[in-house]
Amino acid sequence: MSAAGELSDLVVIGGGSGGVRAARRAAGFGARVVLVEDRALGGTCVNLGCVPKKLFHHAAAVPEQARDARGFGWDLPAPALDWTRLVANKNREIRRLNDAYQNTLDTAGVRIVRGRARLRGANEVVVDGESFRAGRILLAVGMEPWRPSGVPAAWVSDDLFHLKDLPREVVVVGGGYIACEFASIFCGLGVETTLIHRRSRLLRGFDAVMSEHLAHALRSGGARLLLDAAVDVVRERGGGYEVVLGDGREVRGDGLLWAVGRRPRVAGLGLEDAGVRLDGAGKIEVDGNYCTSVSGVFALGDAASRGRELTPVALAEGECFAAKHFGGGAADLVYENIPTAVFTHPPLAEVGLTAEAARARGYEVQVWDSDFGPLRLALSGRGERVYIRVVSERGSGRLLGVQMLGEEGPELAQVFALALAAGATKDDLDRCFAIHPTVSEEFVSLRAPSNS
Ligand code: FAD
Ligand code: NDP
Repeated sequence: MSAAGELSDLVVIGGGSGGVRAARRAAGFGARVVLVEDRALGGTCVNLGCVPKKLFHHAAAVPEQARDARGFGWDLPAPALDWTRLVANKNREIRRLNDAYQNTLDTAGVRIVRGRARLRGANEVVVDGESFRAGRILLAVGMEPWRPSGVPAAWVSDDLFHLKDLPREVVVVGGGYIACEFASIFCGLGVETTLIHRRSRLLRGFDAVMSEHLAHALRSGGARLLLDAAVDVVRERGGGYEVVLGDGREVRGDGLLWAVGRRPRVAGLGLEDAGVRLDGAGKIEVDGNYCTSVSGVFALGDAASRGRELTPVALAEGECFAAKHFGGGAADLVYENIPTAVFTHPPLAEVGLTAEAARARGYEVQVWDSDFGPLRLALSGRGERVYIRVVSERGSGRLLGVQMLGEEGPELAQVFALALAAGATKDDLDRCFAIHPTVSEEFVSLRAPSNS
């Protein structure tokens, strides 16, 4: 165990996805590791991100499933939500995960220090006046949501996990992952939801057609989408909020969510004094070995300049960092074909390149589209359709990307990540026998490209 001033091999600042994985793996390689965390272990993903969000996502699906049940002959009472119970049950599951993280670190022999850490030079971290020296320091501090300046301090995503009551009407500002996911969750939970986004389509970077289908699906689910809409003024009024748009329209909500992005959590970390350089987006600049501009100081995860802001990326970086610096070496991570899903109802999932991105990289592409009504909903009277799109390279047939809007999308995108990594071609898909009747069989039954 490393005491104040005593030298350890590694001090990790941040007990989230990336920091915990790096600490655990480095300890496994025999390093003496200290990990500093000022909030709950598990970081954003466990406490204020992926996990509680996905639990709310599942909760929000229940009323729709209950409505679908009628088509199967079931008469169920109208569902009524006990929000307090949902939050309490969610909290219990999060505490279980916090304990599991603690146990994992204890078992690995990592010393956990509670408090806010500040870097002092290249080899020292200070926590509440106590000094920890180390051969290497890893910054895995993550990001936090921000609000524009000069606006009422309404909710950011962190606040949504501990609301005492659900709002009756909510306004969501933004058009990214968090805006879409929470607009969908609120709708599912029965909250009147208006989403305001400054662009004409949601989810910049995703396939444009899929994004339009998603907008349609969100509207069908009850959300009001105001696209190409600039927020001009926001006022607190009568216990709620009044949002005035650039064109004079007014939207009201008793709740307002700013979902306009996240910023690295670097304030007060002492980076400037230590000489750790940030990039144009305010992220900590790192190279392929996660080295910052200061020798002996490393960074990874959301707050670092490589990769994407996703848990599996932070985990992979933690793993790679530990192997490179404590385990005798590892190849650089290749940040390609990272699967991802936006957990709306229905979810939008993708892996690899969209047709637009593939063309921008100089590929000649073929696009294979299909849309259909899933059998699961055939008796429900719900008009929801599934959209799938495969992008392949003309000539070689190599699969470049897959996009899907539909319930099974996130699970299938994971499987297609494997296909893309293995260099699978469209011919490989065509050679596969289908499993019938499934949604996934559509992927092996795409016969005519949609752009030729
Ligand atoms: P974090 O998990 O944020 O961990 C950083 C830790 O460092 C925090 O615990 C913080 O308290 C601590 N810390 C910071 N500064 C200090 C300091 N000075 N001293 C001590 N401790 C400090 N990703 C997915 O892949 N799938 C999803 O479904 C998904 N859903 C999300 C939903 C939401 C609402 C949000 C906000 C994010 C979501 N993400 C999702 C993104 C995912 O949570 C992040 O990519 C991931 O948590 C990044 O891990 P990290 O280790 O870089 O940072
Ligand atoms: P995103 O970057 O996804 O979205 C931010 C949104 O806010 C964009 O639509 C952006 O518009 C808009 N915006 C930015 N600035 C302003 C402004 N000044 N006024 C109005 N609108 C603005 O960020 P999120 O916070 O939603 O999510 C952060 C990251 O966390 C994601 O990128 C993702 O990597 C990760 N995440 C992953 C999830 C998952 O895996 N399911 C779920 C949630 C988060 P524009 O496009 O015009 O810039």
